Amino acid sequence: MKKKVEIETQVAIITKVSRETKDTVTLKLQLPNPFYWEPGQFIMVSADIDNKVVKRAYSIASSPTRSEYLEITIRQTDTPTMSKFLNERSEGDQLEVRGPYGKFIWNENTSDKVVMLGAGSGITPFKAMLEYIKDKNLDSKSKLLYSCAFGDNVIFDDLLNELTKQVSCYYELSLTREQSNDFNSRKGRIDKEYLQNQIKGYEDANFYLCGTPTFVKAMRDILIEIGIEKTKVKREQWG
Ligand SMILES: Cc1cc2nc3c(=O)[nH]c(=O)nc-3n(C[C@H](O)[C@H](O)[C@H](O)COP(=O)(O)OP(=O)(O)OC[C@H]3O[C@@H](n4cnc5c(N)ncnc54)[C@H](O)[C@@H]3O)c2cc1C
Repeated sequence: MKKKVEIETQVAIITKVSRETKDTVTLKLQLPNPFYWEPGQFIMVSADIDNKVVKRAYSIASSPTRSEYLEITIRQTDTPTMSKFLNERSEGDQLEVRGPYGKFIWNENTSDKVVMLGAGSGITPFKAMLEYIKDKNLDSKSKLLYSCAFGDNVIFDDLLNELTKQVSCYYELSLTREQSNDFNSRKGRIDKEYLQNQIKGYEDANFYLCGTPTFVKAMRDILIEIGIEKTKVKREQWG
């Protein structure tokens, strides 16, 4: 594995396009000059869209232990620009990327215990962290609490079930607006009572929150209210 962290703009080739949900796609990118990143970091993607240069951040959804490629997973928003452009890409297309960036990092030197709280497309850095734990065979204690509105919005559903079992990570999905019982999940928001129960035995863990600003703020407020030290709570928010 190449441990190179110089930041440069590169033109990547999209080598695979995987549709995750009706509005979310994963792009597998091959870089001419692969770099090392830490689990949780992001890249900047640039494109000319309607004669304007648009730049957006995307968390790297794959582990640096697999640095021969890099994946990003993009949910198309309701009023999209870049997210629509990326959802319409095909294999063989080129993409300008720059990175890695960011301090939302977890690795074996950060802590033995980690709690990941994600909502919607905020699951992407956690996939990278879980793959990293698996590939490095780490015996870290981890928990993943993932919140989505509906069952059909869940990204990486099968993969998360499998990956979390492989690394003995406790995983629970919360669906906030789903009516049917077709999904293996609890119903309702991640609230104070739920979180208080979930973090028993994890009070000394590091907490990672990722998703919309509303979700991230709500989770942080609850964690601090129930006595988690501010310095133990890391945030990545978008939207
Ligand atoms: C560090 C970082 C990492 C990110 N990683 C990812 C990622 O892995 N996957 C991903 O899909 N997005 C990610 N984003 C969000 C991404 O950068 C864009 O903001 C998003 O794709 C919308 O861009 P756009 O050009 O399509 O829409 P814009 O024209 O920029 O905005 C459209 C509207 O959508 C809102 N919005 C932005 N993101 C979301 C969202 N996820 N859900 C609902 N509304 C949103 C914006 O506030 C705005 O009101 C990340 C953002 C940051 C800062």
